[in-house]
Amino acid sequence: MSDFQSKLQKSLLGLQKGVQKSFQEGKEKIQQTQEIISLKNEISKIEDNRDELYLALGKSVFEKIANKEMEDELLEGVVDQINYFNEKITELKSILNEKTGKEETTTCECGAEVTIDSKFCSSCGKKLDEE
Ligand SMILES: [Zn+2]
Repeated sequence: MSDFQSKLQKSLLGLQKGVQKSFQEGKEKIQQTQEIISLKNEISKIEDNRDELYLALGKSVFEKIANKEMEDELLEGVVDQINYFNEKITELKSILNEKTGKEETTTCECGAEVTIDSKFCSSCGKKLDEE
């Protein structure tokens, strides 16, 4: 083998090794990225589950306070605010339904008319059965 040929072969080998090395590094980077993505996914899945529980907890406290089974001055203000929002939502929904021309309502035990998909009565805060 000539000097030139062996030099060429050496530099080609070096080049090949360099390519392999950066390929390996790229592969590791992808693996790391995938690990980061799956960690982030797992975190957000757990956070979603936790947030659902927060919501359920909040709703159960809301019901207790709305039904006077629990007393808390600060939370009563929050309940009032939620009730206000519920009234507002009902009001806006009925306006929307007038415009779109569709809505089914049901009557709560308290006499208030609520939309059939309401989870809570907008007037008394009672939890409505899903039928
Ligand atoms: Zn009611």
